[in-house]
Amino acid sequence: MIVMKFGGTSVNDAVAMRRVADIVKTRLEQQPVVVVSAVGGLTNNLVTLSKEAKNSNDARVKEIITALVNRHQTIINDLGLAESRTLKARLSEVVAVLESACTDLGRADSMQKDLVDVILSTGEFLSANIMAEYMDSIGMNGAWADARDILVTDSAYGSARPMMKESTEQAKMILLPMVAANKIPVIQGFIGRDGAGKITTLGRGGSDYSASLFGAMLDVDSVEIWSDVSGVLTADPSLVPDAKRILLMSFQEAAELAYFGAKVLHPATMLPAVEKGIPIFVLNSIHPEQGGTQIALSSDIDPDKGCVVKSIAYKEGLTVITVHSTRMLMAHGFMLSIFQIFEKYKTPVDLVATSEVSVSITIDNTEHLEEIKNELCAFATVGIVHNKAIVCLVGQYLKRTTGMPAKIFGLLGDVRIHLISQGASEINISFVIDESELERVIKRLHEHFFAQSANPEIFTENN
Ligand code: ADP
Ligand code: ASP
Ligand code: MG
Repeated sequence: MIVMKFGGTSVNDAVAMRRVADIVKTRLEQQPVVVVSAVGGLTNNLVTLSKEAKNSNDARVKEIITALVNRHQTIINDLGLAESRTLKARLSEVVAVLESACTDLGRADSMQKDLVDVILSTGEFLSANIMAEYMDSIGMNGAWADARDILVTDSAYGSARPMMKESTEQAKMILLPMVAANKIPVIQGFIGRDGAGKITTLGRGGSDYSASLFGAMLDVDSVEIWSDVSGVLTADPSLVPDAKRILLMSFQEAAELAYFGAKVLHPATMLPAVEKGIPIFVLNSIHPEQGGTQIALSSDIDPDKGCVVKSIAYKEGLTVITVHSTRMLMAHGFMLSIFQIFEKYKTPVDLVATSEVSVSITIDNTEHLEEIKNELCAFATVGIVHNKAIVCLVGQYLKRTTGMPAKIFGLLGDVRIHLISQGASEINISFVIDESELERVIKRLHEHFFAQSANPEIFTENN
């Protein structure tokens, strides 16, 4: 069995959905289980819808729901499914669900995250149903399998965590008989349900994570992530158009890259796969012939192909908080008191650097910045600067290679570096710069590490 996940651009319209069916056809012998995202950009529209609903902006709410219906109706018609009773019922169901959730949200005191998840879940609900119906209509035995009956999660709406034991039981009970009956299950990515029966989502970009969760639950041979790029590249192609494709990388390398902003994979995707040793392939649904990137256990990678720098990632929109206090000098428990505050406000920290009397911390979620600042101010002087970015170089053998920091920072002699982190992971070197320097820095590093001497056994042109 294999899991094949298709992202938003891969199911963007009827043409893209036909392409998906063609790709799935090439894998029939491997017994595919298909996971889909919402059609491209739709989840963003649903986020906007939630905000408009909260503000009781009824005209905008109506407009967004109408646009959603029209877009899906066009896809349904273009796929020749206009007469499908199932899809008519699904569309009506979505309209009713959205209208009711939007009304409730308008009446709520706050942006209730459980209602937002109900709204967000409708995107994948529709794309999975349409894809399944289409694959059925062309004789491929596609059948919708409802992720809400399979993926059991906690109740952290908007960033739910899976409960593996319960979910695995459900996955085996629901999906294995379907596959045994030669059906192709089509499941919503990104969506689950908590113990109380309410809909949850895994966080933005979470369909990749769903795919590897289903893969681990079913012990599949591989997980394929089909996107609009031909694999994991040496840098974000929107900043570096001539970025190269990485042929093979380790789970750890991919996880670091994803954590530090490479959007092509959700950061949690590698976890379930690495536990079961299931390889992940990142592939291009528009150009399937281009091959892709294989992500495997580091023990499966020939050390000679470990190469020093494999890719450069970045994360924008960061805030650096500097906590300064002479009481910190030689005092134990000081760090704990700082991090307890971040923990209390559920604000993840990306990078940390300390000196004798100060600690610098980067965060990207500033929802509770004021509260955090006030609590820190009780025992320290606090400085806050915005518009920073982390740049992260990743490579399995980065730390074992002498002289790397000198090489990297030598290249950036004229750039102001705010924070450096080299110690925490064997395989990355990260540092913080002004956001305005980002493009220049990434291009310069990329030019140095990949332009001339990229090893053809590890990297290939991205076309
Ligand atoms: P999908 O909708 O298929 O999940 P995403 O938009 O989430 O696709 O992720 C694919 C995008 O990730 C690419 O179009 C590319 O712009 C971006 N990206 C950022 N960094 C990288 C990288 N290192 N390699 C490949 N793509 C990257
Ligand atoms: N549709 C969701 C999002 O846009 C999940 C995904 O595409 O992975 O975040
Ligand atoms: Mg994605």
